Amino acid sequence: MSDAWTTALSQLDEAAAHMKLDPNLHEVLRRPKRILTVSIPVRMDDGRVEVFTGYRVHHDLSRGPAKGGIRYHPDVSLDEVKALAMWMTWKSAIVGIPYGGAKGGVVVDPKRLSDGELERMTRRYASEILPFIGPERDVPAPDLNTDERIMAWIMDTYSMNTGYSVPGVVTGKPVSVGGSLGRGGATSRGVTFAALMAVKQLGMHVDGLRVAVQGFGKVGGFAAQLFHDVGCTVVAISDFKGGIFNSRGLNPSALLRYRDENGTVAGFPNGDAITNDELLTIDCDLLVPAAIEDQLTQSNADRVRARIVVEGANGPTTREADHILDERGILVVPDVLANAGGVTVSYFEWVQDIAAYFWSEDEVNTRLHGLMERSYEQSRAYAEEHGVRLRLAALAIGIGRVAEAHRVRGLFP
Ligand code: NAD
Repeated sequence: MSDAWTTALSQLDEAAAHMKLDPNLHEVLRRPKRILTVSIPVRMDDGRVEVFTGYRVHHDLSRGPAKGGIRYHPDVSLDEVKALAMWMTWKSAIVGIPYGGAKGGVVVDPKRLSDGELERMTRRYASEILPFIGPERDVPAPDLNTDERIMAWIMDTYSMNTGYSVPGVVTGKPVSVGGSLGRGGATSRGVTFAALMAVKQLGMHVDGLRVAVQGFGKVGGFAAQLFHDVGCTVVAISDFKGGIFNSRGLNPSALLRYRDENGTVAGFPNGDAITNDELLTIDCDLLVPAAIEDQLTQSNADRVRARIVVEGANGPTTREADHILDERGILVVPDVLANAGGVTVSYFEWVQDIAAYFWSEDEVNTRLHGLMERSYEQSRAYAEEHGVRLRLAALAIGIGRVAEAHRVRGLFP
């Protein structure tokens, strides 16, 4: 069983006990509504056919269409996708947008595919999950190793099968085919908003706040840039190959250029080389895990030196680590709240596609800020009122909204 699924289930169980959730509903919510496993045969450039495995999981659809990213990674497993789908259910409910939770994944290392192979694999995966997806059913989006180019291929594959353009079938697509301004940076913006609210809550100062970011992709890369722009000192950054530390501060835009040229931040000249584990325990004020699951564990949580952890990634903290961080008085802003900016602007994109009426980037960012602020404030107030940590507070709010949807709809038949 993947650690992410164990973590997701234990979070639900803890929240259910705290909320005194109806045990019947608790049992329903512990399982995904439906799971699709697909084989994806792909003609490789050398003429061979390679068969990849893919998944699409719907966790709960009581509040609206399924929503969740698609991940390409060699470690993708069904248990991981189930966990990510469950977190999407809570996340959409926490920010109050009318979606259920879904996730997809393909077991593949996309770095070893040519552009042609990647496109053929994406189109075949999209065809295989076609019965699951659609603007009113399930709306995929980018996640680890997937981007707007891949979303455009999925939108095109779906549209070719229906015979007309259906921009609302995916979000995170290029603006030229119905994408939203501001979607690309939305998760990072949300992470930064959440971090600034946590800083304010603890009475700390943004100016010179020392930030360490694990993962320098779509989420971590732009978040590091935004932290730098608001006056923080970004002291450490890492990716899959290792990291870089400079107590005087790193320049994220120089690092982005270096990463684009070299495929990694490892080896960047203006700082000292560090490992991913060293980054997580480095001397800093704010730690932003923005890579993959299970990074903060019982073997390193007692060495974390940050005062605040803001989870850009999904599931970066195991259950044991979460309790250790809490006992040590470290404020953890949980994934389901901290990285909800992505699904929020995905929702804005879908609304714009359905209305065929597009907003300015300022409008998108202002609405995002408003929703993040409201959601953070609701979770903070709940945590204070009930004397619980922010993760349990956010989950209780999200699960409570899902439970209410089940209650009023009743159990079919
Ligand atoms: P991405 O593929 O753009 O970037 C991932 C980054 O993590 C890369 O820098 C990669 O090198 C690094 N990485 C991969 N494996 C690593 C390892 N073992 N150790 C350290 N670094 C490693 O992906 P992304 O979209 O930025 O997603 C990152 C995380 O944020 C994921 O957990 C994802 O589920 C979550 N998330 C993403 C979005 C979104 O809108 N993209 C929204 C919400 C949550």
